[in-house]
Amino acid sequence: MTAAPPTDGVLADRYGRVARDLRVSLTDKCNLRCTYCMPAEGLAWLPGPQLLGDDEIVRLVGVAVRLLGVTEVRFTGGEPLIRPGLVGIVAAVAALEPRPRISLTTNGIGLDRLAPALRAAGLDRVNVSLDTLDPQRFARLTRRPRLADVLGGLAGAAAAGLTPVKINSVLMRGVNDDEAPGLLRFALAHGYELRFIEQMPLDAQHGWDRRTMVTADEILASLRGEFDLTPDPAERGAAPAETWLVDGGPARVGVIASVTRPFCGDCDRTRLTADGQIRTCLFATEESDLRGALRAGADDDELARRWRVATWEKRAGHGIDDPAFLQPTRPMSAIGG
Ligand code: SF4
Repeated sequence: MTAAPPTDGVLADRYGRVARDLRVSLTDKCNLRCTYCMPAEGLAWLPGPQLLGDDEIVRLVGVAVRLLGVTEVRFTGGEPLIRPGLVGIVAAVAALEPRPRISLTTNGIGLDRLAPALRAAGLDRVNVSLDTLDPQRFARLTRRPRLADVLGGLAGAAAAGLTPVKINSVLMRGVNDDEAPGLLRFALAHGYELRFIEQMPLDAQHGWDRRTMVTADEILASLRGEFDLTPDPAERGAAPAETWLVDGGPARVGVIASVTRPFCGDCDRTRLTADGQIRTCLFATEESDLRGALRAGADDDELARRWRVATWEKRAGHGIDDPAFLQPTRPMSAIGG
């Protein structure tokens, strides 16, 4: 452990980790109402005046890339595809020197239409959320009958060259946990890279229950009923997903086991919310305001300094197993993946 926050260079924390992967939430709004994320009526959305404008987002991403050593930028939400200025934001970030790798986490609705423009603007790849292949079950889980749109979005992303196209699936006990092999069969048939994500305590309703969470061990056991899984020889590094070769490879499947196999020790993520707050962790209960300083005229060096100081205070891990664990008040839909 080193003594004080760095006064220049990268986003280092007191545990020696360096954040190079910036997740930017472009909106807290979404066009789906997933039961494990928000109530049917939606949420009290972030007030408009508090939301960062397109130029403000590009400026802060620029500070991260040019002054803080960020090399990966992932746009998230809510649902980032509903942000009107998305293509322009991607193009401006792609023009940064050094150029970061740019990805997007989306529910896929409208992606078939937007994929060519996003690719042309500089988007490199996408992660699409898909928890079921059953149209009725999809409508129950998301409260919208839009499965066909998501499947169309996946195909549109692949056709536009936004590859590898990754699928994020959350399994819930007694809801869709019977679909693990089917989802993998689907991904293999289309050349998509599937990762299962353990459900995390980040829902707006604070209804998360460890007993209904499907664990990594259970997911792997379910897959092994049909597939031969062998450990992936590729270096994992700070990647959230643990991966396996399927039937000898080269196809892979991944599991992001934040709860039962936490990977916080190698975490390289930092987050910017749609209203200009720095979150050092998905589960952070404290945030640092950059919007105020930015609008008060702070220069890029000052914004960078504040970001370094915030990162320095990052906790060792999410603390979900800690009896004193407190779920963040900010819901997942306003944090982003
Ligand atoms: S829970 Fe927090 S510290 Fe752990 S890997 Fe996720 S963002 Fe990083």
